[in-house]
Amino acid sequence: MTAKRRIAILGSTGSIGTQALDIIDQHPDRFEVTALSAHSQADMLFEQVREYRPKMAALTAGEVAIPDDLQFCDWYFGEDALSTIASTAPCDDVLVSVVGMVGLRSVLAARAAGKRVLLANKEALVAGGQLVMDACVSTTDDPVLIPVDSEHSAIYQVLLASKGNPYERIILTASGGPFLTWTHAQMQTAKLSDALKHPNWDMGQKITIDSATMFNKALEMIEAKWLFDATPNQIEVLVHPQSIIHSMVSFQDGATLAQLGVPDMRAPIAFAMAFPDRITNGTPPLRLEQLAGLSFEAPDLTRFPAIRLAYDCLRAGGAACCVLNAANEVAVDAFVKGIIGFTDIAKVVEQVLQGIGHLSADTLDDVLHADKQARARAQAFIHT
Ligand code: NDP
Ligand code: MG
Repeated sequence: MTAKRRIAILGSTGSIGTQALDIIDQHPDRFEVTALSAHSQADMLFEQVREYRPKMAALTAGEVAIPDDLQFCDWYFGEDALSTIASTAPCDDVLVSVVGMVGLRSVLAARAAGKRVLLANKEALVAGGQLVMDACVSTTDDPVLIPVDSEHSAIYQVLLASKGNPYERIILTASGGPFLTWTHAQMQTAKLSDALKHPNWDMGQKITIDSATMFNKALEMIEAKWLFDATPNQIEVLVHPQSIIHSMVSFQDGATLAQLGVPDMRAPIAFAMAFPDRITNGTPPLRLEQLAGLSFEAPDLTRFPAIRLAYDCLRAGGAACCVLNAANEVAVDAFVKGIIGFTDIAKVVEQVLQGIGHLSADTLDDVLHADKQARARAQAFIHT
């Protein structure tokens, strides 16, 4: 038996984080948890630390009293704690599964310390794609960045199987979310509870709302650009409501290769964690004969402007994608708090993109500056 892979999980109390722990429960001989982090769910993190006994743990929302029986672990608090444990935890892999662009610094910190990044946190790539990719150049045959997002895991798996043959197009599939069949007028009155009813996936609140606006797919288009060095013209979005085909890649010989499976995030999480092995993870087998059928349609760019905005940002370059992400994070938060309506989310993002002008994204300071500017503009637009 080879040595256990030591893993740090940033965002262990979230949807991806808890599913990663579920996989570890199924394979205690393969993995050892050496660090965990949560933001504000301290009690849940305490339970996890009790069970997995990591060497380090972080609560990013700030300091709280640590129970006596958990003093064996080194505790870190506040925003910087994420990067601290990403770089100093005794681990091989860092699963970055926090939500939002706060993940960017921890990705860079993990890489600076030579750790492999298993990346669920798409906002890091969207905001600082060039920085992340520059930090993730592998000097060996082993990858140092493995995507966890199901679409990108699918594309990654297809490209591995196609052995360096250049692809023509990446076809990102999208469920279409809960409002796929709603009219624009209906979407204008959509409530938070409507937006949180995702048809196929059980995910954290922010990504579920992003799926309803299709900003999730917009972020994934940008994620694909960086991970697979794709031009905007090589990236397509195809609505596939059943979420069985996780994405496809087409080649110049006319072949289109797809990766399929029951929609269960444990499959791509386990793929990344056990790479290059494939391990059981609880995902049920796919039984195509039991499905009523697979269907496909082009996305409606009028009801879902997010996709159009992503193409604009990909073509604009600079920090445009970072601005899109930041404005979206602020707008989603305002929607959750009942300050703006559902269809206002895209309006906020579009207004911020139109008003901000060209910003560069060459350095981390550039990215943080663009992020800050975009957040301020989004807040100003929301509160006028
Ligand atoms: P959740 O909201 O379920 O979990 C987020 C995690 O991040 C929690 O552990 C949370 O801590 C922590 N967190 C929240 N805010 C902060 C902060 N400001 N600083 C540090 N940590 C923070 O999200 P998901 O698990 O759904 O998503 C995580 C990431 O993975 C996102 O980027 C998402 O886009 C991506 N992803 C998720 C998929 C899914 O199926 N869920 C699929 C593909 C990608 P606490 O619990 O204490 O609040
Ligand atoms: Mg996805």
